[in-house]
Amino acid sequence: AKQQGRNHWQFYNKQRKSMSASDIILRSQLQQAIDNEALQLYYQPIIDFSTGKIVSVEALMRWTLNDGTAISPVEFIPLAEATGQIIPAGAWALKQACTDLHKLQQAGVQRVAVNLSALQFHRANFFEQIEKVLNDTQTPPDMLELELTESILMENTDNAINVLERLRERGVRVAIDDFGTGFSGLSYLKTLPVTKLKIDRAFIKELDHSLSDQVITQGIINMASQVGLEVIAEGVETKEQIAILKQFGCGYGQGYYFARPMPLTDLLIFLQNSDLI
Ligand code: C2E
Ligand code: CA
Ligand code: CA
Ligand code: CA
Repeated sequence: AKQQGRNHWQFYNKQRKSMSASDIILRSQLQQAIDNEALQLYYQPIIDFSTGKIVSVEALMRWTLNDGTAISPVEFIPLAEATGQIIPAGAWALKQACTDLHKLQQAGVQRVAVNLSALQFHRANFFEQIEKVLNDTQTPPDMLELELTESILMENTDNAINVLERLRERGVRVAIDDFGTGFSGLSYLKTLPVTKLKIDRAFIKELDHSLSDQVITQGIINMASQVGLEVIAEGVETKEQIAILKQFGCGYGQGYYFARPMPLTDLLIFLQNSDLI
């Protein structure tokens, strides 16, 4: 469904076709949600396999209509990317995550990861925006991690590397999201100033019975460790997957097995009651 959503909007972008009536309604509802700061951030823990502790959390956007209907990010993020609304929505998410970080830090969380869209990353003043949020929210730069997909890093590479280098100098971490889905080859990895990669759930899903997924996952982990990158496995749902990932030398995991994404208040309770931390 995600892929279809993406393709649909990429198609819309390229063809400059008019939006459907329901898309137009959704867009104006999304604008209201942005204007009224009615979007929400949920947080999903990321676990260090070597200690079993929660080290960081990923911020994930949520949108619920006034009538209580939840719209999936798989639907509204591509819409927001097509309309440009991801710029204000993403700016809000970044600032909210950095604000929430103070409470998370007191609960023992070391870092928050925020998703970025291509449109945000390629803006002329992107780095200055990060700088401003860090200053406004008094966030130590190494407590912020930005998640960028492979495709974002592959497009417009000179500019991307320049921005990544400035982020690295500033101490902000960058992770490559959905790794393995971008067909980009592995050699470029060692030239990119990034610290982490996240293996896409597509490879983790069938890990305990798919030999090819095991080979790919093991390959990604080996290659990452050779170039000094940390690895997070996404979408971990079973003990069996964890056993295999640990055996392969994967450092970190995230998925429903540990916890689903949840609102800040629930996460703070979860962290308190959790033996993990
Ligand atoms: P993503 O960045 O790859 O985020 C991981 C997605 O996998 C999340 O879906 C999360 O809820 C889901 N997930 C985590 N563990 C498991 C698991 O064990 N099993 C399964 N089946 N799913 C799991 P979600 O929250 O629906 O977000 C979907 C996508 O929407 C994200 O994929 C990301 O691409 C985008 N997105 C979400 N929030 C933001 C945001 O603030 N900004 C931007 N630009 N994109 C966002
Ligand atoms: Ca992500
Ligand atoms: Ca991901
Ligand atoms: Ca994904």
